[in-house]
Amino acid sequence: MAEEKPFCKRITPGFLKKNLEEYKEWIREPLYVCTKCGRVARRARDLCKPVPLDAARRNGKGASGENS
Ligand SMILES: [Zn+2]
Repeated sequence: MAEEKPFCKRITPGFLKKNLEEYKEWIREPLYVCTKCGRVARRARDLCKPVPLDAARRNGKGASGENS
């Protein structure tokens, strides 16, 4: 149990059944996307190949509160 698997590896169908609420918290307002698995998370360390989401582009939609 010293071993901390990346978020990507922990998400299995069984995990989701038991921990869906926790999972929902993890993926809420994600800041990083895993370029390997396509998962998202708020912390880079939770993903195996994280890249910041806002590196791509930030001015699309849904960032802050400003829709026009
Ligand atoms: Zn991954």
